[in-house]
Amino acid sequence: MTDILVLGGGYTGIAAAIRVAVRTRRIGGTVTLVNASARFTERLRLHQTAAGEKLADHSLKDLLAGTGIRFVQGRVAGLDVGRREARLDDGRVLGYDKLIYALGTVTDASVPGVAEHAHVYDDYAGTKQFAERLAALDGGTAVVAGGGLTGIESATELAEAHPDLHVVLVTRGRPGAMMGEKARAYLDAALERLGVEVRAGVDVAKVLPDAVELAGGELIHSDATLWTTGTSGLPVAAESGLTVDKRGRIVVDSALRSVSHPDVYAVGDAAAVTQPFGVMHGTCQGGIPTGLHAADSLAATLRGKTPKPFRFGYIHQPVSLGRKDGVIQFTRPDDSPRRWFLTGRAAVVYKETVSSSPIPTFKLLKRGLAPVWMFALTAGLA
Ligand SMILES: Cc1cc2nc3c(=O)[nH]c(=O)nc-3n(C[C@H](O)[C@H](O)[C@H](O)COP(=O)(O)OP(=O)(O)OC[C@H]3O[C@@H](n4cnc5c(N)ncnc54)[C@H](O)[C@@H]3O)c2cc1C
Repeated sequence: MTDILVLGGGYTGIAAAIRVAVRTRRIGGTVTLVNASARFTERLRLHQTAAGEKLADHSLKDLLAGTGIRFVQGRVAGLDVGRREARLDDGRVLGYDKLIYALGTVTDASVPGVAEHAHVYDDYAGTKQFAERLAALDGGTAVVAGGGLTGIESATELAEAHPDLHVVLVTRGRPGAMMGEKARAYLDAALERLGVEVRAGVDVAKVLPDAVELAGGELIHSDATLWTTGTSGLPVAAESGLTVDKRGRIVVDSALRSVSHPDVYAVGDAAAVTQPFGVMHGTCQGGIPTGLHAADSLAATLRGKTPKPFRFGYIHQPVSLGRKDGVIQFTRPDDSPRRWFLTGRAAVVYKETVSSSPIPTFKLLKRGLAPVWMFALTAGLA
């Protein structure tokens, strides 16, 4: 009998919990999933929430129905990896034999003023507050900091949803620097069409209540600032003594076990997973496969078998440009751009298919199956 505790009910925690429940059904024991909210947060749609869109409400209990997984709503405040216990902020303590850590990341707020004055995508409630603030503005200016995919999706979504709002995208490099030249040209044209002012090649030194201050002292007025420049692991991992990388993510071996505490598996954004091309960056595309693999590794270990090494290769960088446009850059397994990309209506349909795929994936996993695209991602092409 083994008690398995899954921390985090995002994309990867749910996938891991369902898979491990199915794979250990005959072994016996319990699977418990802990999450701060009772509602499943579709993180990859938070820019839609920021723009004021009402999304479907998925309760975690419903998503886990029929699996035998116990759901506990609570916020994890500490981990004792020696005693194998997780402590919640209300004092409850949950013991485990094996742990799957899937708590994701939080926004890196190391730039002065971010914690006090910027909005971030750390949870649904905070994003909703940002949406309400924008809705209350009469015109005004919103600054989006960060020219990665999250910043681009946010700037375009806000500009489209609020035509009176002046949106400024502030970024150190070029927006979409990771994409191929042609896809990037399409992206630049879309930003211009939507009226987004791009300030590329600049560093934000400070966020103020009504402005962002660039290195060099220039002030850009901002009625609402969104910070999307980077994330790091929750302090709970490092504080527990688990080995973490410099971004606070749990360092794992090829079976996705913590290199310091093999009873702990780490998945998704919270894990530092090394592949031949380097350490994976946080995406749902890569996160769900890690959740499934950790579950398989854990089940294999309980059966006395040797877990297989995790293999992963990227296939795309899917970017929405508001609700009516998008650009999908297809990639090599190491995430470098291929020649092929999609734009316009085809990209919108593709992106929506990607964004809505986790819910049917959870349903398939409950039946012991996995979607076909999962095999493409984990075929060992990397
Ligand atoms: C706007 C936006 C667009 C994106 N678009 C894409 C995309 O198109 N494609 C793609 O592949 N990726 C995309 N991503 C990235 C993707 O959303 C993440 O990689 C993915 O959510 C990681 O899943 P996860 O399960 O590791 O973490 P999360 O989804 O963040 O889940 C973590 C869970 O842990 C819970 N939690 C956190 N702290 C605690 C605590 N202390 N106690 C209890 N529970 C806690 C949270 O409530 C949450 O449910 C996007 C991200 C953003 C913000």
